[in-house]
Amino acid sequence: MWDGIIIGGGLAGLTAGIRAAERGKQILIISEGAGSLTYSSGALDFGDVGQLLSHEDHPYALLGETVVHAGMEWFQNLFPDYRGSWSEFQEILTPLGAPRKAGIVPRSHNTEPLKNAKVIILMAPYGLKDFFPEIIKTNLLKAYPQCEVEIFPFRTGTFESWHTIGKPVTGMDYTKYWQSQPGVSELKRLLDSLPQTSGETVILFPGLAAAFCEPLKEVLAGTPFPVIEMTSFPPSACGHNLYSALKQKFKSLGGELLTGTGVQSIESHNKVCSRAIVRSKGRPTAFSADSFILATGGIFGGGIEATADTAQETVLGLPLYVPAQWTNSEFLGEQPYARIGIEADRELRPVGPGGKEVLFKNLRVIGRMLAHWDPWTETCGGGVSLATGWFAGNQL
Ligand SMILES: Cc1cc2nc3c(=O)[nH]c(=O)nc-3n(C[C@H](O)[C@H](O)[C@H](O)COP(=O)(O)OP(=O)(O)OC[C@H]3O[C@@H](n4cnc5c(N)ncnc54)[C@H](O)[C@@H]3O)c2cc1C
Repeated sequence: MWDGIIIGGGLAGLTAGIRAAERGKQILIISEGAGSLTYSSGALDFGDVGQLLSHEDHPYALLGETVVHAGMEWFQNLFPDYRGSWSEFQEILTPLGAPRKAGIVPRSHNTEPLKNAKVIILMAPYGLKDFFPEIIKTNLLKAYPQCEVEIFPFRTGTFESWHTIGKPVTGMDYTKYWQSQPGVSELKRLLDSLPQTSGETVILFPGLAAAFCEPLKEVLAGTPFPVIEMTSFPPSACGHNLYSALKQKFKSLGGELLTGTGVQSIESHNKVCSRAIVRSKGRPTAFSADSFILATGGIFGGGIEATADTAQETVLGLPLYVPAQWTNSEFLGEQPYARIGIEADRELRPVGPGGKEVLFKNLRVIGRMLAHWDPWTETCGGGVSLATGWFAGNQL
């Protein structure tokens, strides 16, 4: 019998799993796929926490400021390759070179050195897909008008055969190469070959994903100028690396991860969940636990199935909050369907319509499965998953 079973191994589920395993609990995570972290920038956005706390149904308001803050601090202690501050946003560059605010970011993404730079050298790997140096240069000149921006095109031998046959090289391909032994050596040679400049020059590099990669971090630490990384379009190597680091941490703490298979249903009696039934090619398998966490990722993760006019929670058939009108025709406006999810009490247990009745005593709902928040307009995707995951992992 497990102390806890977590259904869904995205950011929220892995956070809960690590926190519970740290506390000595025996945890099983069952996850069908990798989750949306692999598409995200790798930065964790918290949004305007003070303002979101005032929306009474928002997950931040259910938990309270102390818990949200504690989740953020816990993450940074867990992964010192990331940095953030409760009192101010970090700034990172979008894939098009425009600065944007974020909550916790990989250290190598922080744009601080750009504020005093005189020259920015934008490294432009040949054939990199979805990389637009001229647009990036224009945006950099707008954001840092005191700087000159020089584009530095280069090519590596590794992808020559790809270029010959017209095969596109994605950011993930480049990252994989930079993280290999030959890639690290070539990167060092490349950075050493740049003109030796004063401390006022900053190098911008797309697609390195140095966090969690010791040899790359060593190369970057040895340069005479700061090297800043840019985020990339999905799928993102940085998000992918964070996902791998979370999985590794969970397993190193003794957690068990079952991937590639989904939970079909949960058996329960008198409002107490007892066994998760897993889909398998043969007969279904049942796993028993004292407590359960539902972290199946909402519409994007597969935890909610939606058609044009219906939405259904896929494991337990839990009732969902569904706004009267789902969509908004305004371009880039808030889309009400983003708030579809399960309503919960302050313990994150699912509640019935009206919010009074707790539906299952030993089940908590976290991350994108919760109702009443919107990661796009509130920019709090990472923050809500982290805070709710940390809280639920503490309760198991
Ligand atoms: C393209 C994109 C870009 C983003 N960019 C950012 C960003 O820059 N900053 C930021 O803070 N946030 C960003 N977000 C939002 C953020 O990534 C999510 O809010 C957060 O990762 C959600 O985590 P989650 O664990 O709730 O869900 P998910 O990551 O979706 O994980 C859910 C998991 O549950 C699994 N699952 C589903 N059903 C079952 C089942 N029946 N049995 C077992 N497993 C199941 C899924 O396979 C998946 O692994 C982005 C999201 C997307 C989609």
